[in-house]
Amino acid sequence: MRKAVYPGTFDPVTYGHLDIIKRGSKIFDELIVSVGHNPLKQPLFTITERMDMISNNTRGIQNISVDCFEGMLTDYMKELQTNVILRGLRTLSDFDYEFQRALTNRVLKTDVETVFIMTSQEYSYLNSSLIKEAVSLGGDISMFVPSDVEKLLQQKFENR
Ligand code: ADP
Repeated sequence: MRKAVYPGTFDPVTYGHLDIIKRGSKIFDELIVSVGHNPLKQPLFTITERMDMISNNTRGIQNISVDCFEGMLTDYMKELQTNVILRGLRTLSDFDYEFQRALTNRVLKTDVETVFIMTSQEYSYLNSSLIKEAVSLGGDISMFVPSDVEKLLQQKFENR
């Protein structure tokens, strides 16, 4: 049974994340997409909102579940009984960050393996922060996120 966790901030989930989830679900028997609480980021959406957006857009994928965690990923992985982390890679700067994360996680839990899926070309520039910036300026983001996510993003900025 190959089980992996795909952790991330997902604030909000984009077509880039969804592409990694779909492709990851074909590699692993079970994939847990887990919204993490990153103390260095100040998310726009609550954990529940982010989980709901992921669930709504992965309904057709049988071997996916959506969860959340706080604290160290490696501790959470012990609870889940998995030693595989799935992450996506876009740019060289992603590589730098992911390389450090992967090695740190390996020190924290020696049997951890991080598996990377290279972004699809059409999503290689997609990034949640830029999407939020575009919505705040009234830009059209329909090609970057599913329609329910687009609506929720617009509501967030209307309420501000
Ligand atoms: P984190 O704060 O943990 O980096 P993100 O939601 O920003 O959370 O990203 C989660 C993972 O998804 C990271 O591995 C990131 O590189 C990957 N990712 C984000 N956007 C894309 C994309 N467009 N294509 C491929 N991977 C992506």
